[in-house]
Amino acid sequence: MNRDQVAALPVPAISIDSLEFWKSGSDGQLRITRCDDCQLWIYPPKPICRRCRSQAVSYEPVQGRGRIFSYTISRQQFLPGVSDPYAIAVVTLDEDPDLRMTARVVADDLTRLHIGMPVTIEFEERNDMWIPVVAPTGEEDPQ
Ligand SMILES: [Zn+2]
Repeated sequence: MNRDQVAALPVPAISIDSLEFWKSGSDGQLRITRCDDCQLWIYPPKPICRRCRSQAVSYEPVQGRGRIFSYTISRQQFLPGVSDPYAIAVVTLDEDPDLRMTARVVADDLTRLHIGMPVTIEFEERNDMWIPVVAPTGEEDPQ
């Protein structure tokens, strides 16, 4: 997908609870909200812990590494100006098997995607928002 097509992709709907998330990737570091009381990772970002109801929630850096849990490749054109196929993946982050995030896949060859594939989270800047994207690491899968 070239730069013009990436620019044609919609940007996320920003809320007061998620603004810091969309800005925090400006230094290349993925940060996820986490409960200060019970340590639960919370994604998408929320100001209240869903497990213990604590409001002591703060952003914590994560490695930005994980594996593809699931994915889909769209070959139908849904958006004007976006004609190339694109993939969306659900990724399990290394910090916790229950910590999963969804993002667009950035890869030259989408046919090589598979469940369990090692990936890293990178960022695309659009409208001063830092959108996480999934990039295969190229490492051999030991599974
Ligand atoms: Zn909690």
